[in-house]
Amino acid sequence: MAMQVTCPPCGEVISAETDEDLVAKVQEHARVEHGHELTAEQVLAEAQDVA
Ligand SMILES: [Zn+2]
Repeated sequence: MAMQVTCPPCGEVISAETDEDLVAKVQEHARVEHGHELTAEQVLAEAQDVA
């Protein structure tokens, strides 16, 4: 099942097939785009399942 997170500051939708991939992608996005470090728990708390 795919999962996605909508980045609160910029509205970009980041999706991935696994928790690990989603966490990595969102952490990378937050770091590069916003200079902000997120924990895995913070990413997963925002994650939504995508049918
Ligand atoms: Zn963003």
